[in-house]
Formats: sequence, structure tokens, C-alpha cells
Amino acid sequence: MSTTTYDYVIVGAGTAGCVLAARLTENPGTQVVLLEAGGNGGPQEMASPDPLASFSLWGSSVDWAYSTTAQAGTGGAVHSWPRGKVLGGSSAINGMVHHRGHPAGYDAWEAQGATGWNHRELLPFFRRSETAEGRDPQVRGTDGPMRIETPPEPSALAKAAFRAAVESGHKPLEDGNGGESEGVSWRETNVVAGQRQSAADAYLRPVLDRPNLRVVTGALVRRLLMDGTHCRGVEFSAGGEVHSALSERETVLAAGTIGSPHLLMLSGIGPADHLRETGIGVVADLPGVGGNLHDHVTSYVVYSTQEQPRPGGHGAEAQVLARSSSDVAPDLLFLFVEAELQPRWTGAGPGGYSILFSLMDPASRGTLRLRSGDPAVAPLLDPAYLSDERDLERLTAALRIARELGRTDALGPRGTAELHPGPAVQDGDACRAYLRATASTYFHPVGTCRIGTDDLAVVDPGLRVRSTTGLRVADASVMPSLVSAPTNATVLAIAERAAHLMAAPAHA
Ligand SMILES: Cc1cc2nc3c(=O)[nH]c(=O)nc-3n(C[C@H](O)[C@H](O)[C@H](O)COP(=O)(O)OP(=O)(O)OC[C@H]3O[C@@H](n4cnc5c(N)ncnc54)[C@H](O)[C@@H]3O)c2cc1C
Repeated sequence: MSTTTYDYVIVGAGTAGCVLAARLTENPGTQVVLLEAGGNGGPQEMASPDPLASFSLWGSSVDWAYSTTAQAGTGGAVHSWPRGKVLGGSSAINGMVHHRGHPAGYDAWEAQGATGWNHRELLPFFRRSETAEGRDPQVRGTDGPMRIETPPEPSALAKAAFRAAVESGHKPLEDGNGGESEGVSWRETNVVAGQRQSAADAYLRPVLDRPNLRVVTGALVRRLLMDGTHCRGVEFSAGGEVHSALSERETVLAAGTIGSPHLLMLSGIGPADHLRETGIGVVADLPGVGGNLHDHVTSYVVYSTQEQPRPGGHGAEAQVLARSSSDVAPDLLFLFVEAELQPRWTGAGPGGYSILFSLMDPASRGTLRLRSGDPAVAPLLDPAYLSDERDLERLTAALRIARELGRTDALGPRGTAELHPGPAVQDGDACRAYLRATASTYFHPVGTCRIGTDDLAVVDPGLRVRSTTGLRVADASVMPSLVSAPTNATVLAIAERAAHLMAAPAHA
């Protein structure tokens, strides 16, 4: 057993943890330890620029391989939830899409009580995180660690999809990350020179030689060390032994939407009744911990085609952001995949193409709860998919819009037949049954340590865990609600802002 003291203890070297470690150690006088349960690397597919290659990482040494509880809203299905367990976290196994949400999604955070968390306040941190050459520097970064690329030559499918979207009335955008994101745009990626670029590649590996940064891999944090309601650091196991890392200033949880609330609850911070049921002593009754769990849900239309699939191609370069009805903010995202998607991500056959669609602003909310007080036992994950009927209505609108795209002059001749749902599925009930049977994760669970000021908020607008001292959370779990894009770019901005808040406590 060893005990070492630092200024900051950061738990989890995923998207957020890598940003925090790099930014906090820019001050050479600040001592930081970054604790990561996974290792430093894994299967060779981790370098591939093909998002579909990341399927082969599921269940591998770099995946926590979580599963949801049986979901009544999706026909009782249990959904696989891969999460990265490696330096870079989920950014090391994700689809590499770099996409900010529509401004309305961030402004909605402030409207829910996350004071100061709106699009205008976050924009400097989006810019700080990235280098996007050739873009408008008023809204895009010019010297941030995460380098952004647009695929150089879109596939024939992607070009047809872009034309199809314009033909259907979706506005063509120069830059889908340029502020206005409603319309059709070319997807940007975290790929550099043909290689995946995780948050560890962009932020952490370039600064590993800093003497004030210690990174410990294979370190499973088991609980927070609480002195009353003050957090003094963490206890972790590594190399078969139990160690302590103490923080002079703060401990920051960046263990993700699952890991962060799990650790809070294991340490007695959470809904008091639930903690007592699990035999855990209550340190702070924070009923919102583990609540508000939600995720983007997807479904798709699949067409057979006589086109030859592009070797190694995925065709997802064109993306369309649209609205399910005129009275809501943009809430539907469409991608075009050069493969025949199978239900619940069980595979992707060659020979067809799919229009994947996802609900960006789901109303359904679920919970994360402890199964056991043993840190090695995964918690119960219930995102309550499609438990709110409004989500099904909006997905029905998405199915209609996807079919409109598939019928355009630009895409129509490509799809020789609609394989799924198929021509027989037309009326409302049949569409809803199809959606429930195929709905699945888009891999973006958030919300379990929500920012806010009400009784169910977990962190305050400075990201400090309410009713405690010396403890913050900064990762995807703090999002009050999902935004209209995959989540990685937003987590980079959240962590950039967190580092800024921590370095300037007077403004926190
Ligand atoms: C398959 C998949 C595809 C995705 N595709 C995209 C995409 O294309 N574009 C996009 O924008 N987003 C995508 N995402 C989502 C995006 O990657 C995540 O939202 C983002 O990485 C979350 O960052 P985070 O810092 O909150 O958590 P993570 O990156 O998951 O990091 C959490 C880290 O904490 C560590 N940890 C957890 N518990 C402990 C513990 N007790 N002790 C020590 N360490 C611990 C984990 O091992 C992990 O490294 C995808 C995600 C997945 C899984």
C-alpha cells in the first residue's frame, strides 16, 4: 500500500481526463496524477480510420462491455454498451465523428438551470480544443490539440446522399461545425494522416514527459476517500495492491457517464435510500446521482443495391440535421452507411446501403443504480429507451424523412429495393412496431451527474459536487440533456472549460 499526495487527482483518462491532465499540467507548479483502469494501447484496429473497424474492439481488452437492463420500450432487448477502457477512453474506440451540436442544445442546458452553460459561453472552449484548417476562425479552432479532417474524397454514395438531401430541401452547409448545423454537411473526423486520433493521442501523449504529470494505467479506482463531506483523494487497486492518491486541492471524476456516478455512489454520495439498501453508509444524500440517464436512439432504412461497395469504405461522409416538426429545435440526424445494417449493431453486411437516423433530443430518462457495493461489479444501466411516447413519434417522423431521402432522384436509382422496414410497413402502428424492434444505442449515454441548481442536480455550475468539497465531475455525465450531435466534441469542450474553471477558482 502506498500513499502519494498531488495537487489534483483525476480519475479516468478518457476524453475528458486527457484534456484535464494536459491543461492542468501546463502550470509546471501543479502536480497531477491521472488514474486509468485500462492500459496504454490494445488491438491494432484501434489505429484504423474506418469507423466500422471499431466494431471489432467490442468485448476486447479495451472495452468495459456494459449491457443495459432489458428494455421494455425496445421489445425487451438488452443493448450492448461498449465504453473505452484504455488511455483515451471511449474516444479510443468510437466512430471518430467530430460534430458539435446545434446551438439550441447548449442553450437548453442553461434553461434547465446550468447557469453559464450556453452556446456562447462554450464556443471559446470548442475553439480551444481543435485545429480545423481552412475554416472560419471566428467559430473554429486554429491551434487546439485535436486536429480535424474532412474525408478528402467522399464516396459515390456520400455524394449522391448530399445531392439527395439538397433535393429534399435540406440546406447545404459549408461547415456543419460552423455554428449553423441544420442542413446537410460533410462530416469531419478525428483522423490524422489516416490514423485514429483519440483524446490521448491529441492531448496526453504529447505531454507525457512533463515532470509534474504522473499517469498510472491498470489503476481501478475503488472509492473516494471522504473526510466527512470533504474529498481527500481516492483509493485504487493496481498491480494487485491497494494504493491511495491524495489531493491537496481537488479530486476530479472524469470516469464517464457510467464510471463517475458509480464511484460517487460507492463512496456514499447519492440517493440515500438506494445507498442504504445496498449497505453503503450515506455521506451526502444527492438523489440525482445516477438519474437522468439518457442516450441517442437509432434506427434505419436499408436498401439493396447493385453498386459495388467501396473497399474499406463506409460512405458516412454526408450528414443531415433536421427537425421532426417545425416547432422544435433540430432533433434528427441522418447518416448514409455503405453497408446493410443489421438490428442492434449485430453486424453490417456488404451489398446494400442504409440510411441511419437518430433522435438527438430524447425525452425518455432512465437510471443508473448499484447492483452491489463491490467496485468490480458493473452497475444496473436502464436508459428507459422509448419509454416516453413522444420519442416514438419523432422517430416515426425520422423514418418518413429517411424514406423521402431514399426516394429522391439522386438516391432512388441506387436502392433496388427497400429491405427494411420494407414496403409492407407503412401505417403508424407498423412503423412504431418496426422502430421498437430495431431501436438501438448511438453510444452516447449522458446525464447521470447533471449540472444544475435544483435538488436533483449533482454538480453546480462550477462542476463541484453539491454538498461536498474538494470534488468535481467533468465528463459526459454532467450534460443536462443531449445535444444534436455525437458527444465527443462536446466532452472536449466541457473538459476544456472545467480546466479553465479549476485554474481560475475566482471565476468558478
Ligand atoms: C462505440 C462508440 C462509438 C462512438 N462514436 C462517437 C463518434 O463517432 N463521435 C463522437 O463524438 N462520439 C462518439 N462516441 C461517444 C464519445 O466517444 C463519448 O461521449 C466520450 O468519449 C465520453 O468521454 P468521457 O470522458 O465522458 O468518458 P470516457 O471517454 O468513456 O472516459 C472514461 C474513462 O474513465 C475510465 N474509468 C472509468 N471508471 C474508472 C475507475 N473506477 N477507475 C479508473 N478509471 C476508470 C475509463 O476506463 C475511461 O478511460 C462513441 C462512443 C462509443 C463507445
